[in-house]
Amino acid sequence: MGTYAMTIAGADVPVSATFPVVNPATGAPFADAPECTRAELDEAFASAAKAYVEWRQDESFRRATLEKAADLLFAAGEELGPVLTAEQGKPLRDAAGEVFAAGIWFKYFAGLEIPSQIIQDDDRATAEVIRRPLGVVAAITPWNFPVTLASWKIAPALLAGNTMVLKPSPFTPLATLKLGQLLASVLPAGVLNVVSGGDELGAWMTSHPVPRKVSFTGSVATGKHVAASAAPDLKRVTLELGGNDPAIVLDDVDPSAVADKLFWGAFSNNGQICSAIKRVYVPERMYGEVVDALADRAKAVKVGDGTAEDTQLGPINNKPQFDRVSELVADALAHGAKAATGGKPIAGDGYFFEPTILSNLSDGTRIVDEEQFGPALPVIAYTNLEDAIERANATHFGLSGSVWGNDLEHAAEVASRLECGTAWVNAHLALAPSQPFGGSKWSGIGVENGLWGYEGFTELQVLYRSKT
Ligand code: NAD
Repeated sequence: MGTYAMTIAGADVPVSATFPVVNPATGAPFADAPECTRAELDEAFASAAKAYVEWRQDESFRRATLEKAADLLFAAGEELGPVLTAEQGKPLRDAAGEVFAAGIWFKYFAGLEIPSQIIQDDDRATAEVIRRPLGVVAAITPWNFPVTLASWKIAPALLAGNTMVLKPSPFTPLATLKLGQLLASVLPAGVLNVVSGGDELGAWMTSHPVPRKVSFTGSVATGKHVAASAAPDLKRVTLELGGNDPAIVLDDVDPSAVADKLFWGAFSNNGQICSAIKRVYVPERMYGEVVDALADRAKAVKVGDGTAEDTQLGPINNKPQFDRVSELVADALAHGAKAATGGKPIAGDGYFFEPTILSNLSDGTRIVDEEQFGPALPVIAYTNLEDAIERANATHFGLSGSVWGNDLEHAAEVASRLECGTAWVNAHLALAPSQPFGGSKWSGIGVENGLWGYEGFTELQVLYRSKT
């Protein structure tokens, strides 16, 4: 798989120390990633600060550069995809799709129209609200979609005129390091620096004096540390954190018609999506039918090494997460839940887990109340819709949710009552670069994507011109 280098000031950094990266399909290390030192991190921030002076000057140059970056990504699936599969576990097709999606995000932001906002234009004055870049951004990403989630940060931040130091998760540093090397061929030196290391490196970044903004995607627990660490010098923060998305099935639904969408809303990327369906509420009278329909799909899915042609779901990405999913499922079973299918790890090497549908359980069970972030879905019966909505909202999480029904008006009315950043009707995981994405409550602060995501990488300024 070659060697992997950090990109600082537009060049590969000679590797001094390294840490191993494990292939989750085998459980064995397969490559080494550079371990960033404090001195190297200082260099990365210094190079980003230096590059900022020029980069912020010329918006049309920035847009043209982002276009070039998009084209590079559209053509990079074959190079980055296998690296992503090896470190993350997802099937090759999905890995290539993730790289392509990053291209779509760059393309979108390259062409994003930024409306002019004149708030006063009369005899006395013209007042305009303009957007200024913040400076250097510290960006930190998780292990589920390292490339796409990095693009959600890089493209809007750079469009706004900021520069960046980016750190991927230590479980999946390699495709992001490759991304940094690839983009160095079109970006001026220092505009995007990519460093790799452990969690401690993330903490160094958020407390570093240079960055003016931290853009973080990861767990709620880490997000709280990040917010605290950014507070002393008032860095701006965007936090995209965990979710425990409810899906509420209404009683006018044909279970067989929605089962596929519900299943993939929960099990895409092996359940390792912040905004995947993590619990399903189903009317009592169709409960058995929905559980069976979901279990049928779970049984039919092909789980395996992401490099195999027919694999639909790969392994869980890492050992701690594999242990956590195993523990939450075992806890549910010990408390009376039934596994309609699955329920345990798949024997052998690697972090494979049976796609699991759990029935006969309710709120108050850990796997319902906590974020499982893996291939196990609890299905909960309800008799009263108001009660189901209340239970769906009775959580610190508030990332997204969905409502499934034939009467679209009714379903939309129910969806509008979900306390979350995105409420879907008859869909889940429908994301787009133009659509702001973020969480309420503990699922985050701020949003990514769309004009709103771009604005998160800016500060507004009132430019007031007196005419008197
Ligand atoms: P994590 O919080 O453990 O790690 C995320 C990143 O933060 C990693 O790069 C890690 O090295 C770094 N980090 C760890 N400790 C840090 C610290 N003290 N200071 C700064 N950085 C630190 O999360 P994870 O396990 O990699 O990812 C899974 C979580 O991410 C899930 O909760 C999932 O829901 C969430 N997630 C959210 C979104 C979203 O957009 N809302 C998207 C994907 C994943």
